[in-house]
Amino acid sequence: MAEATRYITCVLCEANCGLEVTVDGPMIRSIKGHQDDPLSRGHICPKAIALQDLHTDPDRLRTPIRRLGEPGAEATWEPIGWDEAFDLVAERIVGIQQEHCRDAVGIYLGNPNIHSLGALTHGLGLVRTIKSRNTFSATSVDQLPHQLVAMLLYGHQFLLPVPDIDRTDLLVLIGTNPMASNGSLMTVPDFPGRLRELRSRGGKLIVIDPRRTETAAVADTHHFIRPGTDAHFLLAIIRTLLAENFSRPAAYVDGIGAVRDAVEPFTPERAAAASGIPAEAIVDLARQIAIAPSAAVHARMGASTQAYGTVAQWAAQAINILTGNIDRPGGAMLTSPAIDIVGKGLVGKGHLGAWRSRVRGLPEFSGELPVSALAEEITTPGPGQIRALVCIAGNPVSSTPAGGRLGDALAGLDFMVIRARSQECFPPQSREVKS
Ligand code: SF4
Repeated sequence: MAEATRYITCVLCEANCGLEVTVDGPMIRSIKGHQDDPLSRGHICPKAIALQDLHTDPDRLRTPIRRLGEPGAEATWEPIGWDEAFDLVAERIVGIQQEHCRDAVGIYLGNPNIHSLGALTHGLGLVRTIKSRNTFSATSVDQLPHQLVAMLLYGHQFLLPVPDIDRTDLLVLIGTNPMASNGSLMTVPDFPGRLRELRSRGGKLIVIDPRRTETAAVADTHHFIRPGTDAHFLLAIIRTLLAENFSRPAAYVDGIGAVRDAVEPFTPERAAAASGIPAEAIVDLARQIAIAPSAAVHARMGASTQAYGTVAQWAAQAINILTGNIDRPGGAMLTSPAIDIVGKGLVGKGHLGAWRSRVRGLPEFSGELPVSALAEEITTPGPGQIRALVCIAGNPVSSTPAGGRLGDALAGLDFMVIRARSQECFPPQSREVKS
């Protein structure tokens, strides 16, 4: 069979690199970065090379399988057809919702839903069809504060500004490690190459992180920060900008007086005591951001998954706004996606507290509850208790708080269907279909 070249997008992470794959029938001959891909520009990482191993992995599931045997017995699995699998899953979901209530079927969506075209185009439809208030995802252990702040500041949860890394003069990264991840929200395939370009045009990278990460190791300046104190640190930068008259927001910005009042107690000295970063360094960073021709402050997951994560995300946005760096070249810009889910109204602007979790009364955000409540919603008896779970591209036993407890809870479900690879999501006592 003749060799052929296929151009695909790597779906292993959010960077979505373009790949050039040479195939010979079912065999993969080579995997390279696609030089003409406008975003990844030929970049490829070792994970993409390993796609070949996934393709030929004898353990790879090629058909749905159903668990056999009594709860508690050792698991055995039988392959079944797609039609049978769809019928079984639909029958069980509908049956459990009819017997109990809609909320008796829980949903968990893992991170890969965000970099899968199929999940992006069809996943939301499935969630809307099941229509359960017991919907959870990786969002609540990741970027939920970003979405909440975007909704409150800009009017839509997905108006998420990201650094214009290819044009900025000063990049300030907080709690993020794109040298390892190639970005998240800020999608930057080939971050090392883009950093070299930033430097070659005279730009600088400043990193704030409690760890000496791969990104911190290549930064011009790295400030170690005490974990959980990013909000203190960022509020002190805002205070300095205002106190030293560096504020130059766009004409449409209002509410500066309220911000001035709110940040007044957060002096650099107070932030230094909390964060461990010297007051002089805080003031110096505020000045650098203010006088740079362009600058972008980007606070990511490390600044989100903490007690004051929402304040930290608001403060990072406020710095970009106050210094005139919001939505301008070289600053933090809104994206122009191929499918404009905001402009076309495909996803709602967001809402908070429309309902609360049954057991602890935690507020929903945009239709989902914090995943830290998932285990208790399964194990606590009463109306609305979760009896079945639909898990799509996620492994919450490994990736969410108190995973062991969640694993035990999953074992008590009447039914679970999962599209994932890890055995950790398959507790020994529940009946599932997986594919
Ligand atoms: S960074 Fe690696 S894993 Fe992520 S999309 Fe690019 S090639 Fe794939």
